[in-house]
Amino acid sequence: MPHCVIVAVDGPAGSGKSSVCRGTAAALGLRYLDTGAMYRAMTCAVIDAGIDTSDADAVAAFAGTTAITSGTDPLAPTIAVNGVDVAGPIRSESVTGAVSPVSAVPAVRERLVALQRDHVALAREAGVGIVVEGRDIGTVVLPDADLKVYLTADPAVRAARRAAETGTRAVAATEAALKARDAYDSSRTASPLTQADDAVVVDTTEMTLQQVIDHVCDLVNERREQHV
Ligand code: C5P
Repeated sequence: MPHCVIVAVDGPAGSGKSSVCRGTAAALGLRYLDTGAMYRAMTCAVIDAGIDTSDADAVAAFAGTTAITSGTDPLAPTIAVNGVDVAGPIRSESVTGAVSPVSAVPAVRERLVALQRDHVALAREAGVGIVVEGRDIGTVVLPDADLKVYLTADPAVRAARRAAETGTRAVAATEAALKARDAYDSSRTASPLTQADDAVVVDTTEMTLQQVIDHVCDLVNERREQHV
């Protein structure tokens, strides 16, 4: 059986993770899992259920009752809550504003980390590799990943990219919101955003998307060769 490469990509908001991971997975014929989309989907469900997103006990009780499903084709990833597509709503301001506290609830993480590991097991069974992106993939979810990448970029550049994506001209406000989310994600008790000791750090500040994809593809191919 060929070695199925498992790639963990972490980094702060706006570092380019999604575009880089999708591009890399598509170029190399791997599956792709966006774990941020899973936390966003859970947040969306919590809001829709009328639960206060800052009430950790209520969020924890609710988390166990919600089915989150992810499609892992890098060319057409999908995300659904109880069978309903939520790809649009998970990018709304209300979800972005509430996702960090929901993600900090241990019961939410337990449930979603189990699903994330299931996707990796399925990819292995199918004989294909997978690129998984998030905040704690290299440190907690997949500590034995073949390759760990930590993507980073200057906060002003991350804000400009995110503002361009969302079509807003409020770059300063976007930068403030990104920094607030990074601070929350990095300081929480449960699986904070941290760089794994054995991660390859890629600073994308001065790189184009294609340059980053090419670089990550080279890193993956190097690891694959080590397993031949
Ligand atoms: O990657 P994205 O910005 O869509 O992630 C949204 C939020 O989901 C993050 O700000 C973080 O609070 C949470 N998250 C997490 N662990 C992950 C991925 C995302 O806590 N592995």
